[in-house]
Amino acid sequence: MVGAILTQNTAWSNVERALAAVRSRRLLTRAHLSALPLGRLAQLIRPSGTFRVKAMRLRAFLRYLRARHQGSLDRMSHAPLDELRRELLAVPGIGPETADSILLYALGRPVFVVDAYTRRVLFRHRLLRRDAGYEEVRAFFERHLPSDPRLFNEYHALLVALGKAYCRSRPLCQECPLRFDLRGKPPRR
Ligand code: SF4
Repeated sequence: MVGAILTQNTAWSNVERALAAVRSRRLLTRAHLSALPLGRLAQLIRPSGTFRVKAMRLRAFLRYLRARHQGSLDRMSHAPLDELRRELLAVPGIGPETADSILLYALGRPVFVVDAYTRRVLFRHRLLRRDAGYEEVRAFFERHLPSDPRLFNEYHALLVALGKAYCRSRPLCQECPLRFDLRGKPPRR
């Protein structure tokens, strides 16, 4: 959950450095993250970028966890999915991608996480419009796939891998395993 907040607008490798700094000091617990002075927390997570803002977002999430679920991740994980998603989206600094990453990766709930790679592939393959909103893209996957968190997890990871290896800003369609799906048409730009 901490990783889902720290990864906003930065590469995961930076998040790993920030998490390693917190973990190496044995501070990666709800109690410690709540009790640390805000400035100290911000310095610890500095490698993740925009660290002061992210420290405030972490604190907002921890306040929500305490107020709504008595600080228990177990209680949180048993709340109804729609309710949980609404609550997370109401926490300052938590948008749909962060909320859904928490739901899918941390809590194992069947929510499809949408990111820029996902949108790019769907647009280029004429499956959705360029301006399709987050909820529309999420609904598209959830409508067409079995509601299985492990499948959503793997599917998203594969889209990210595809985006990094082939579906870059200049797509490498000739080498891409999805080129068959273009059916002879060039990808939409
Ligand atoms: S075939 Fe081209 S447009 Fe499609 S995913 Fe691969 S690189 Fe992207």
